[in-house]
Amino acid sequence: MAATKTAAAPMKVAQIPKPGADFEIVEREIPKPDARQVRIKVQACGVCHSDVFTKEGQWPGIQFPRVPGHEVVGIIDELGANVSAWKMGQRVGVGWHGGQDNTCLSCRRGDFRNCRNLKIPGISYDGGYQEYMVAPVEALAAIPESLGSTEAAPLLCAGITTYNALRHSGALPGDLVAVQGIGGLGHLGIQFASKFGYKVAAIGRGSENAALAKKLGASLYIDSQSTNAAEELQKLGGAQVILATAPNSKAMSALIDGLGPNGKLMVIGAAFDPIEVTPVQLITGSRTIQGWAAGTPADSEDTLRFAELSGVRPMIETYPLEKAAEAYARMLSGNAQFRVVLTM
Ligand SMILES: [Zn+2]
Ligand SMILES: [Zn+2]
Repeated sequence: MAATKTAAAPMKVAQIPKPGADFEIVEREIPKPDARQVRIKVQACGVCHSDVFTKEGQWPGIQFPRVPGHEVVGIIDELGANVSAWKMGQRVGVGWHGGQDNTCLSCRRGDFRNCRNLKIPGISYDGGYQEYMVAPVEALAAIPESLGSTEAAPLLCAGITTYNALRHSGALPGDLVAVQGIGGLGHLGIQFASKFGYKVAAIGRGSENAALAKKLGASLYIDSQSTNAAEELQKLGGAQVILATAPNSKAMSALIDGLGPNGKLMVIGAAFDPIEVTPVQLITGSRTIQGWAAGTPADSEDTLRFAELSGVRPMIETYPLEKAAEAYARMLSGNAQFRVVLTM
C-alpha cells in the first residue's frame, strides 16, 4: 500500500481484516499505479482454494488487511509512467505469478516460475476481490478476444496449473494419463489431457461424476470407492502419468501402484500431510513423483490460446463481489460445479 497514491473516487473491496477473520466489504480510494504497474478495472476474479492462505493468514510474512484473489481479469484503465508494452483499454489477466524480482539465481537462469521472491497477488499485495487493482507488468497476460472474462479467470490458476503440469509431464499422444479428482482442477485437467491426445482415465470417488467425466473427454471412468483404482490402471498397462488434483495425500498414495514403467505421479493438489511411498514402489519400474506450481504469464497466454483453439472451458458459478463471503464458503464446501467466480 505504501507507495501507491490515490485518486478521489472510492471503490468497493472485499478484504480480510486479520488472519482467520470474516470477509468485510469496505470502500477504499482507487489506487494509482506506480511507474512499472498498471491499474486494472476488474471484471471477474476466480475464487481458488489457495485463497485459504490469505483468509487464514497461513502464508509467511502476509500482512493485513489483505484483499485475496489471483484469477483476475479486467481492463487496463491507467498506465504507470514507464509502461510501454501494454495499452489503455486492453483486457488482461493476473494469475498466481504476480511478479518476479529478476535478480535471484532462478531469475538469472530465466526460471521465473521458481523465483525465490515470487510475488503472489492476494498475498504479497492486494488481489482481485475488488473493483480496481494495481499489478506490475511482470504479472500481466493478454486475454484473447473470444474468451469471456468470467470463463477466462479460472484459466489463470486452475487452467494454467493443469495445462502446464500436463505439457511438462512427458506424456505423449496416445499414452494412458489418469486424472485423479473431478473438481476445480480435475474438470479442466480431463479436458486438456483429452485435447492433448492422451487416453484419459478419470478417477473419482463414487459414480456420480462418471457421465460428466466422459463428456469432458475421459475415455474411461474409475470409481476409486468401489474398485482398486491402481489395479484398474494396471489392467490397462499402467498409467504414464497420473495428474493428482484432489488435495488428498492418502488418495494419491493409493494410486502410485497404478503407474506403468517410467510412470510419473504429477502432484498439483496442495495438501499438507505426507504422501506415503516405499522406495521399492519407486525403484520398480523407475517411477517418479513430481510437484508442479502454475507458471508465468507467458504460460497463462499459452493456456488461454490453447483453450481458445481447442474449446476447453471451465464450468463456473458466479457471485457478485458483495457476496465474496458466500462465494468463498461455496468454494470451500467442495460442492461448486466447479469454479466459483466473482463479478464486478
Ligand atoms: Zn489458485
Ligand atoms: Zn527471482
